[in-house]
Amino acid sequence: MLPKNLEKSGLLLINEIYCIMNFMKASKTIISTLREAPNDAVIASHQLMMRAGLIRKLGNGLYSYMPLGLKAFRKVENIIRQELDNAGMNEMKPTVIQPAEIWKESGRWEKMGAEMLKPQNRGGQDMVVSPTAEEAFTALVRDGLSSYKQLPFTLYQINTKYRDEIRPRYGVMRGREFTMMDAYSFDKDQADLDASYENAANAYRRIFKRMGLTTISVKADTGAMGGSGSEEFMVESEVGDDTLILCPNCKYAANVEKAACKDDVAVDSNGKPQVATDKAVEEIPTPDVKTIEELSEFLKTTAQSFIKTLIYKVENAGVDLGKNNDFVAVCIRGDLDVNEAKLCALLKASDVELASEADVVRITDAPVGFAGPVKLTKAPVIADNSVMTMHDCVTGGLKKDVHFIHVEPNRDFTPMMTADVRVVKPGDICPECGGTFYSKKGNELGHIFKLGDKYTKSMNVTYLDENGKSVTPIMGCYGIGVDRTLASIIEAHHDENGIIWTMSTAPYQVAIVPVMYKEKMKEVADSLYEELKALGVDVLLDDRDERPGVKFKDADLIGYPIRIVVGDKNLPNVEVKLRSADKADLIPATDAAKAVAKIVADELAKLNS
Ligand code: ATP
Ligand code: MG
Repeated sequence: MLPKNLEKSGLLLINEIYCIMNFMKASKTIISTLREAPNDAVIASHQLMMRAGLIRKLGNGLYSYMPLGLKAFRKVENIIRQELDNAGMNEMKPTVIQPAEIWKESGRWEKMGAEMLKPQNRGGQDMVVSPTAEEAFTALVRDGLSSYKQLPFTLYQINTKYRDEIRPRYGVMRGREFTMMDAYSFDKDQADLDASYENAANAYRRIFKRMGLTTISVKADTGAMGGSGSEEFMVESEVGDDTLILCPNCKYAANVEKAACKDDVAVDSNGKPQVATDKAVEEIPTPDVKTIEELSEFLKTTAQSFIKTLIYKVENAGVDLGKNNDFVAVCIRGDLDVNEAKLCALLKASDVELASEADVVRITDAPVGFAGPVKLTKAPVIADNSVMTMHDCVTGGLKKDVHFIHVEPNRDFTPMMTADVRVVKPGDICPECGGTFYSKKGNELGHIFKLGDKYTKSMNVTYLDENGKSVTPIMGCYGIGVDRTLASIIEAHHDENGIIWTMSTAPYQVAIVPVMYKEKMKEVADSLYEELKALGVDVLLDDRDERPGVKFKDADLIGYPIRIVVGDKNLPNVEVKLRSADKADLIPATDAAKAVAKIVADELAKLNS
C-alpha cells in the first residue's frame, strides 16, 4: 500500500514519467568502474563519468552512454521534455541527415564553415549531418503553414547533432556528436515573439532548478545566426569555456563576447584627457622598437597614446569592404584588445582571423609591427570607439622602423566604420549603472534567441493574415545541450570519492548494498528491493559477489543519493546513508523502504518547488 504522504507528494507519478525501467539488479547490468581516469580526462565530470563507467570513448569527440550513464541522461532529457510540454511546446522528430538544398536556401551552406559535416549520398548529392536545425524546421513549417489562425506555436526536438569541433574536449562537455534540445517558435509579430521567448526563458529556469543547477542568464552575441535578442544560460565553473562579465550593483550580466562598457576618455601620461594638436603628422625613426611597451619606453609616454592597428582577414563579410577585398585594419587604443566576436558581428561575417604575415606585408608595405591607419589604402579602417577620444597619438608608419606622431583621428585618417569592438575586462565600468565589472568563468548550457525573419524570409515562408494578405512570420530559437547539462550537474555535485547525483537526475535514487548477498541479508535486501520498487523509487540492488569494500566504493563513485547497507551485525536494523552526508542512520529494516521513499519524495518536491 502506498502511504498517504507519498501519494500526495506525487512520487510515483514523477518517477513513472521519468523512465520506463526504474529498478535493476547489479548482476544484470554492467557496472564497470575504473580506478584511474584516462589521461585525456582533465576535468572532474569527464574523469568521473569515465571512472563510474557512465560513458566510453569510441573516437575523438565521440562518446557512448553505457546503461548507467544513459539512465541519468534520460532523466535530464525527460525533465527538459516535461517542462517544455508544460510550457505548451510540441515535440517532433525531424531527420538528422538533411538535404543540402535547404542550407543553400538560407545561405548557411557557405557561411557555417568547417564545423558542418557534409557527406554525400551514393547519388553524389550533398547532405548535412544536422549541427542545428533552423533550416529543417523552417522548411517543415513552410509546407504546413497557411493561416494566421495557426500562429503562434513552438516546435522542438531532442535529437542528435554533429559539429566537427576543432578541439573536442572535456568529454561530453564539448563533443563532436551530442544531443541538443532545440526549439523553434513561429510568431506573427514582435510582441508574440517576445512572449514566446519569455515562455522559453521561464521553462529554462524551471528545467535547471529541477536538476539542481544554479544558472546565470547573460546577454549573448548574436553571431552568424543574425537576430535581435539573445541570452545564454550559464553555470559558473572554474573550467568554463566562457567568460562572464558581471556588475555587482545592477543586473548587468553578459558574455565577454558581447559585453559592452561605458566609453572612457583617453588620457595622457598625467592622467588628463588627451588634447588635440595642430602639428602635422611627423615620421620618426624607431629602430628596433616594435612592441607597445618598447615604444612607450622609447617615446616616454603610455600605451593609451598609441593606436594599435591589426589587420584581419574577414570571411563572408555581410558589409561591403571594397572591391575584391577580404581584409580590414582594426584600430584600437594601445591598452585595449580587439573582441573578435564583436568584430565578426559588426561585419556580419562568418569568421574573422588575424591576417598572415604575408598578407600584413602586402597590405601595409612593411613588416609586421608597423601597421597604421594613416595613408593606408589597401584595407578599410574600422576604429574602435576608444580611438575617437584620442589626440596627438602615435601609429605605425607603414615602413620598417618608422612610426607617425601627432596623429589626429578624423583629421589624418577617416574610418569606414566606428564601433565598439573592444574586449571588456574586470575593472571596466558598467554602461547601465556605473558599477565596476568583475568576471567569472562559465559554461553555456542553453541559449535563447530572437531570430526575426532571417530564415522565414530567405526560405520564403508566408501565411495569410486577417485581411488575406501574405506575410512572413518571425522566429525564435532555443537550445539546451543535454550532455553538457548532465556533465555540469556532476561538475557542481561531486567530492573526492565520486559523483553526488541530485535526486532528480540520479541513474538510481537508492542503492541497496547487502554486505553479502546470502541468507538473512539476501532476504532483507530482496524485500527492501521489492518494497522500493512498489513505491516507485528508482532502486538498484547490488547483488554482485564482490567484497563489501568494492561495492561501497562503487556506490560512492557512481553517486546514488541514498545507500542502504544490509549487514549481519546491524540486523534487524539497516544502515541508511545519504551520499551527501557523513553519517549513516540505523533504521529497522521493516521501516526503511517507507523512510527512504519519503526522503526521495521530499527531495524531489524541493527541487520541483
Ligand atoms: P559553444 O559556444 O559552447 O560552442 P554554441 O554557441 O555553439 O556553444 P549553440 O549553437 O547555442 O551553442 O547550441 C546550443 C547548446 O548546445 C549549447 O548551449 C550547448 O549546451 C550545446 N552544445 C553546443 N556545442 C556543443 C558541443 N560541441 N558538445 C556538447 N554540447 C554542445
Ligand atoms: Mg559552438
